Amino acid sequence: MKMKLFNTATRTKELFHSINDNKVGMYCCGPTVYNYAHIGNLRTYIFEDLLRRALELDGYEINHVMNVTDVGHLTGDGDDGEDKMVKSSREKKMSVWDIADFYTKAFFHDTQRLNIKYPSIACKATDHIQEMIDLVTRLEEKGYTYTAGGNVYFDISKFPAYGKMALLDRQELMAGARILVDENKKNPNDFVLWFTNSKFENQAMVWDSPWGKGYPGWHLECSAMSMKYLGETFDIHCGGIDHIPVHHTNEIAQSEAATGKKWVNYWIHGEFLLMDTGKMSKSKGSFITLQTLVDEGYDPMDYRFFCLSGHYRSQLMFKRESLDAARNARLKLVKKVKEFSKGEPSTSLGTEAARLLEDFNNAIFDDLNIPKALASLWAVVKSDTISDGEKIKAIFEMDKILGLNLESILDEKDEIIDNDLAAEIQKLVDQRIEAKRAKDYAEADRIRSILLEQGVVLKDTPEGTVWEKV
Ligand code: AMP
Ligand code: ZN
Repeated sequence: MKMKLFNTATRTKELFHSINDNKVGMYCCGPTVYNYAHIGNLRTYIFEDLLRRALELDGYEINHVMNVTDVGHLTGDGDDGEDKMVKSSREKKMSVWDIADFYTKAFFHDTQRLNIKYPSIACKATDHIQEMIDLVTRLEEKGYTYTAGGNVYFDISKFPAYGKMALLDRQELMAGARILVDENKKNPNDFVLWFTNSKFENQAMVWDSPWGKGYPGWHLECSAMSMKYLGETFDIHCGGIDHIPVHHTNEIAQSEAATGKKWVNYWIHGEFLLMDTGKMSKSKGSFITLQTLVDEGYDPMDYRFFCLSGHYRSQLMFKRESLDAARNARLKLVKKVKEFSKGEPSTSLGTEAARLLEDFNNAIFDDLNIPKALASLWAVVKSDTISDGEKIKAIFEMDKILGLNLESILDEKDEIIDNDLAAEIQKLVDQRIEAKRAKDYAEADRIRSILLEQGVVLKDTPEGTVWEKV
């Protein structure tokens, strides 16, 4: 086992050790389904997919759990603003349930188009309300909560390790009490575990609870669902870097306060995709979706390839010119792979190909250094000494990580060629039928011989002329 990962909790690159032999429990914060995912969100899911594939390459079996936030995520991470689902439902004149269903499907359609592996378990917040209530009850029993203004809050002053992973300063946190925003909170960093309907009159999704009819705070679902499916301590938790100071900080506080144990061993965070105009944000309403790019003529794989150009811990600037460059490079790769695949793929690799594949894998195992790994891929493509058969074998191995779908793209292209060919043949067959109808037998025979040259045999049957390729 070789994988090294940068752990946000320690701010160092560590050799990865799983809790259970070759099994890894990995939790990734999923989408809030009140709108389409923007390409920034998708960058994070691509990074998580690369991480999963890299761990699989390292011999692990991955239990990949992802939540779908279909309730309770307010427009601000810190309990401010209104519920994003309710806002979207009002704006789009659809029920909150229909909104959630529609955008969940849209999300997984996008991830499928990007060849992101489907999670082992994709779980909806609304299917886990009881688990969340149980968690709040546990916290309440241990004295970590208080109720104010109808809501149940987590009291961060009771949890001395609050903000440790995010390196938040405890002195400052406690001093923050002087600038209280929500007058129900003892400290501005206290967060809601359970809202009752006292907060929003028109909240459409509400459930009975020991604290009254209401709904869970956003952070709660990730703790409840990850522990349900992965246990009270598990290996990896991922997400975008924006979640470190609030969402993940609160997830840790409520999970560890409830169990009294360390919750997650490795915190792996992906950096942001930036636009020329600054940070892309779903809630600000101005964002680019995968479909925007598809409508502009890009293939979803162009975007995946573009994301491979940056290390996951570096910010990546999105520009159409960079996407064009990624598209050209990807098409060049596809064309080369098509060329190499004319012969038989090799069953083994010679020294040079094996060395480059090892370099590729080592870059992957070094905290997922995809840009460095890509250099080995291009070295294979350009090599004068590696045979085409070996090239194909090595490239397909590399693509298990890159996920560019190179093998099926080849099939697809062949299919398209076959379809084009079939259409061409049918056109000639139709012309021959027309010639016969016009009693132009010379023309009909001419077309028959053209088709024969292409290996197409015509049979005149009572039902009409049929053709087959011999
Ligand atoms: P959300 O649906 O807002 O909870 O975001 C889903 C995921 O996308 C989270 O892991 C976020 O951290 C991540 N994310 C949000 N904006 C960006 C961005 N501009 N670049 C990369 N990841 C992002
Ligand atoms: Zn989460």
